[in-house]
Amino acid sequence: MAKSADRCSFCGRTRRESRILVAGLEGHICDNCIQQAQVILTEELANDKRKELPDFLLLKPIEIKKYLDQFVIGQDEAKKVLAVAVYNHYKRLAHAKEAKEGDVEIEKSNIVIVGETGTGKTLLARTVAKMLNVPFCIADATALTEAGYVGEDVESILSRLLQVADYNVEAAERGIIFIDEIDKIARKGDNPSITRDVSGEGVQQALLKMLEGAIVNVPPQGGRKHPEQKMIQINTQNILFITGGAFDGIEKKIANRLQTNKIGYKADRKHENIDKENILEYITPVDLKSFGLIPELVGRLPIVTFMHTLDHDTLRRILTEPKNSLIKQYTKLFELDKIKVTFEEDALNFIVDKAIEFKLGARGLRSILEGIMNDAMYELPSKTTAKPFHVTAAFVEEKFRKTSMARLKVA
Ligand code: ADP
Repeated sequence: MAKSADRCSFCGRTRRESRILVAGLEGHICDNCIQQAQVILTEELANDKRKELPDFLLLKPIEIKKYLDQFVIGQDEAKKVLAVAVYNHYKRLAHAKEAKEGDVEIEKSNIVIVGETGTGKTLLARTVAKMLNVPFCIADATALTEAGYVGEDVESILSRLLQVADYNVEAAERGIIFIDEIDKIARKGDNPSITRDVSGEGVQQALLKMLEGAIVNVPPQGGRKHPEQKMIQINTQNILFITGGAFDGIEKKIANRLQTNKIGYKADRKHENIDKENILEYITPVDLKSFGLIPELVGRLPIVTFMHTLDHDTLRRILTEPKNSLIKQYTKLFELDKIKVTFEEDALNFIVDKAIEFKLGARGLRSILEGIMNDAMYELPSKTTAKPFHVTAAFVEEKFRKTSMARLKVA
């Protein structure tokens, strides 16, 4: 029989039976046992990670706004409303841990942001999540349907959040979900429909429970629920829902309401100087109801704010000011090839003008810049002597004329 010095102290394999036998102070371990131990270690570490909850960073409202200012230009009203709502929501969450029986229960502050597409609604929500270090996902309300119909169940949104949270249920339960195009599930017409309305009211109904706070069975991999599938329970009580939509035509409803108010309450002089250009400023939950959101849903989205349309000045700032602005990104890309790139003021103005002309908003800035800069990005890195590259208005105009976008205009 082999001496104990020649055996694995865990499984008893002899030196001959193992490829490697590592000697310790008191015994030995074979390659086989090392591998098994490695598997156990990986599993345990993964479990620990699941139990660990990443710290979230809660700043005070003024600091939240300052943080947002680094990434989102303008939209001060929305930022302030969001800062307060987010602060209260997460303060409530921290408070819930210490809450005792009979304490005041703070309700959650789901939010609606009304504003044209491309004005920064998603960017705001994403930036808040990044600041807080909580899981974040985006869902499109138009893709949702009532359970049982073709399309995505509302639960699929939670599957996505869970995936983003790396299957850490506790982390997902305090994440942020941005539901885009919430206006597209508005009831068409003012009469509640008697027939089932797959795309509109039915989805609003399906969203209610989740928005208010409920324990929802979620298929971890997403997709449709089916009976054999293992479900994970998620409590949506502390998930913050930020919804956004363009609400095309809501200005008319706001104007009508303000007009009626003026006639009805002569003494109320508050609205006498209505700023017609910025009618969205006066938005209230009542207007969302007249637009076609069901009262129950409006009730669960108590915080309403709006985004300004991006004007020339704001678009110009968006090009250069945010921490990761497009111009800063291009400058960095060239810098990595040791090329110093600078932009003439009028070149930037030209890009902004085109984004406005083609009604592309902030999203258009990128596609226009891509078209203009492509040749330079293609050729310059191969030049042996790297010279500074000054982007002039003339250069930008010439390049833009050759882009498919410019041709679109001619056609
Ligand atoms: P929305 O959700 O309102 O349709 P997004 O947030 O998706 O708009 O904005 C599209 C892009 O436009 C963003 O990725 C961002 O680069 C840019 N953008 C829009 N608004 C702003 C803003 N106010 N400040 C900085 N960038 C903006």
